Formats: sequence, C-alpha cells, structure tokens
Amino acid sequence: MIKTNYKKTFGPVIILFSFLTIAALSFVFKNNFVGMFALFFLLIIISPSMTSELLITDLIALLVSLTGLIGMSFTDGLERFFLLGEIAAVWGFVWIIHLFNDREKYREAENKNKLTDMAAEIEKTRKEFFANKNKLEKISLRIAQYKNLTFATKEITKTDNLQELKEKLKDMIKRILNCDNARLTTFLPTDDSPPDVFDAWVVQKQSPLLIANTLHDYRFDYSSIPKSIKSIIAVPIFHNKNIIGIIRLDSEEENRFLQEDMVVVSILVGVAEMTVENLTLLEKTKDLSIIDGLTGVYVRKFFDERLHQEITRASRFKTSLCVILSDIDHFKKFNDAYGHQQGDEALKRFSAVLRNNCREMDIVTRYGGEEFAVILPETSKNECIEIAENIRNNFRNELINGQHITISIGISAYPDDATEHSQLIRKSDERLYIAKSTGRNKVIWKN
Ligand code: GH3
Ligand code: MG
Ligand code: MG
Repeated sequence: MIKTNYKKTFGPVIILFSFLTIAALSFVFKNNFVGMFALFFLLIIISPSMTSELLITDLIALLVSLTGLIGMSFTDGLERFFLLGEIAAVWGFVWIIHLFNDREKYREAENKNKLTDMAAEIEKTRKEFFANKNKLEKISLRIAQYKNLTFATKEITKTDNLQELKEKLKDMIKRILNCDNARLTTFLPTDDSPPDVFDAWVVQKQSPLLIANTLHDYRFDYSSIPKSIKSIIAVPIFHNKNIIGIIRLDSEEENRFLQEDMVVVSILVGVAEMTVENLTLLEKTKDLSIIDGLTGVYVRKFFDERLHQEITRASRFKTSLCVILSDIDHFKKFNDAYGHQQGDEALKRFSAVLRNNCREMDIVTRYGGEEFAVILPETSKNECIEIAENIRNNFRNELINGQHITISIGISAYPDDATEHSQLIRKSDERLYIAKSTGRNKVIWKN
C-alpha cells in the first residue's frame, strides 16, 4: 500500500499562506525586495515539500517566480498584484502536474505491490506443487509396490516345494521393499541362528512386530541386540495354528520400516501360508492317490510305473530284478466264515508281513483284491525265492481270528524269465496259477 502524501494536501494551503505573507510584507515594507525574496525562498522551500519529488517544472516555476518577483520590484499597485497572481497560477499549475505525477507513481507502486503479491502467490503455489510432487512420488512408489505385489503373489503361489517357497518369499520381500541390507530369518526351528528377543516376542505373542525406531521403543532390553539395528519387522508364518517360521527384516536406518511395509510383508506371508497349506494338501493327495487306504502299501498304478522304471534301470546297469505275485488261499471262505472285517484285518497283517520281509528299496503293492505284488530291484531269482519263502512261512505262522492263513506265490525274474513289463507279470501270474492248481501254500519260480 502506498502512504498518503500529506505534503500534497498541504501544498495549496502553504502557497495561499505565502501570498498572504508577501501581501502583508509588501504593505509593511515599502521596499518590495524584502517581500520579494521572502516569497522566493518560501517557494524554494515549499516546492519540494509540496509534493513527493522535485520535478523540472518546479525549477521552471522557480525561475518564472524569480522573474515575476524582480518585475514586481519595478511595479506598483494593481500590476504588482497581477504579477503575484501570475506566480500563484504558475505554482497552481505545478501543483496540478505534481498531482498527476503522484497519481502515476501511486499506480506504479500499486502495480509493484500487485507484482509482489503475485510473486508471493507463485512461491506459495510452487511450494504446494513440490509438496504434492513428493506425495505423488510416494504414492507412485506404493503403486509400484502393489504392482510388484501382484507379481510376487503369483510367483509365490507357483512354487511346488517348501524350499523353493522359502527362497521366493525372501526374494520377493527383498525386491518389493528394496531392502538389500535387511536380514531375513525364516522357518524356525530349521534355522541355525537362535531366535533373539524380537523373534521370541513374536513367538510368545503370536503376532507380528514392527519397530520403526528402536531408539523410541522401550519394550525390549536392547543390551543383547547390536546397537546398529534401528528398524525391525518380524512377521510370523503360521501353519495349522503353529508358527513354522518368522520373516525378519532388520535395518540400520531409523524409520526404515513403517506400517505400510509391514502390511506388504503380512500380505506376502499370508500368500506363503496359503501356499504351504496347498503344498501340504497336494502332498497328501499325491500320497492318497498312490497309497492303498486299507493296507498302506502302494497301489497297482504305482506298481506299473515303477516296474517300467526298474526294468529300464536294470537294463542300463545290467542287473537283475524280480517280481513276486502272491494271493491269499481260500480267502473267500475266510471272509464268509469270519466276516469282511476279519478279512480286512488279514489283508493288513499280510501287507505288514510283506513289508517286514522286504527291503526299503522293494516296492510292495496291493495288486488288486487280496492279491499283492512286489518289485525287488537288484535281486537274483535265488534271493527272491528265499524272501518269498520267508513271506509265506511268516504269514502262515500268524494267527488271524485264531486261524492260520496260507498264501501262494509266483516269481519271475528279469532278464532270465522275461525282459518286458507285461511278460514278467504274465510269468509270475502263470506260476501263481500253478501254485494254486498244485495245492496252494507254495512258491513257484519255474515252469
Ligand atoms: P483262491 O485260493 O483260489 O485264491 O481262492 P479265493 O477264495 O481266495 O479266490 P479269489 O482269490 O478269487 O477270492 C477273492 C476274494 O477276496 C473275494 C473277496 O471276498 C475277497 N476280497 C477281495 N478284496 C477284499 C477286501 O478288500 N476285503 C475283504 N475282506 N475281502 C476281499
Ligand atoms: Mg485268493
Ligand atoms: Mg485272488
């Protein structure tokens, strides 16, 4: 704002006062030079004080006034008053010029003020812009994180074993949170490092832990913790309501991890938990599809797969293998006499005998009904006969519902009896049939 120039207001008053003074002096002193110079100096004084600044017109007016005053000393009466009037008119004119000049100055100052205000406004907007830019950058970072989250979720769910899952979970968290310097501890208790106070807290509270700045967190005794650790995230991984691991991120930077970061880790851990669940179910399903529910030995489908593999291996390494085919004698009668449940019990006992008499590497399977088959890799026919006889004797010695049950067995050997999958089985089957037709409770290995 421009200040009101009081000089402008009093200018005309001063001029008027000066006329009255000169008029008075002219009448008091008959010598007009006194009044003349008094007026002249008065005009010199008031000219700059009348307005805000001295203009060229002021100088011209002074010269005119000086000439007028000199003229006045040679005149008298009315002429003198006319000259005085003329001088007054000149100064009136000067005053008007100053008035316009000041108005212009006022406008300039006003514009200058406006410009200053605008500059301030621009500065304010600029600051707001940068503040928003920062916010935007943060938001974009979050959006990028969430995009990566989608990718990471897909990656984690793609895994088909726990080891791979563990590695991927670590990788994805590192990548999304951009935390190369962060330490990750997963899947306790398989980890070598024992849990520290933070992991212990998570296990005890069964909930995630976020410490943005250890310097402002008084929950823990930091004496056993390296001083360099400033920011922490620890999220438990649950499976069947038990903690199977903890994702741990440590940073030497204060406020490195915030609430949003823990949300990201929690989401990924949630996905990992689901994947662990799925993998476990998958394992179970796989087991269920190849394991016989009643006896716990493999099913026929698995026998066929493995026999192919074992023949290929035996052929490559020039080794032998044997196939045992066994069938419970008069089982229908047993079932009829003691009931189906006792029959089932007999089947379980028989499969147990088979497993007890075979090696870890042998593949014991329920071939169908009360018929069981065994693949014996790297086994000669003589070794196989011995095993088969043991099975037969041991099972016969079992008492099921007070009864001794017998079995018949047919044996075939690769490559002596056959070199091909179906031929081997056929050979065993033929010999089993011979055992049945020649009195049962025996092992047949040739025909
Ligand atoms: P063989 O000495 O000639 O073998 O006479 P078998 O009566 O045993 O004759 P076969 O082998 O044909 O009999 C199959 C019987 O096995 C029929 C059925 O009652 C019984 N069986 C098959 N599967 C099961 C099962 O899962 N549980 C029970 N309890 N019995 C079964
Ligand atoms: Mg039978
Ligand atoms: Mg049968």
